[in-house]
Amino acid sequence: MIPARRMFLSAGAAAACLAALGLGRRPAVAAGPSGAAFPYTLSDQEWRARLTELPYRVLRHAATERPWSSPLNAEHRKGLFSCAGCAQPLFSSDAKFDSGTGWPSFWQPLPGAVGKTEDRAYGMIRTEVHCARCGGHLGHVFDDGPPPTGLRYCMNGAALTFTPRA
Ligand SMILES: [Zn+2]
Repeated sequence: MIPARRMFLSAGAAAACLAALGLGRRPAVAAGPSGAAFPYTLSDQEWRARLTELPYRVLRHAATERPWSSPLNAEHRKGLFSCAGCAQPLFSSDAKFDSGTGWPSFWQPLPGAVGKTEDRAYGMIRTEVHCARCGGHLGHVFDDGPPPTGLRYCMNGAALTFTPRA
């Protein structure tokens, strides 16, 4: 389903997300920027057994889901978006916005929930975003988001689960 509204659409932003489409053959995330292991660590075999195909490829091998493919794009209820790998809460629905890119987008993560690394894959310099607890790849952050932060966390819905607020 293609949503009718496409607010905040940025051609450059969409291109930056699209550039990595289908190219998920990068090595698995093993450790944080300091080289230390993440608090929640499983072997590649354990991750493969725990996750279905797409979340596994996104979280553990930095694949990118097809735009408009995630039901979380159109999730507008109040609640929490958590890591599909380790269940750590990552984003509040309060910071979700409609970026028009086809990927769930947020202007701010929960405090301490994510880590960032420089990503030079595919001839671009982008900032990769991962779960601070398990290191699972979530997406990228760009500086063309809405107020109050001006940031756009472009996330793979396959890397997230949603829990509605009671
Ligand atoms: Zn995680």
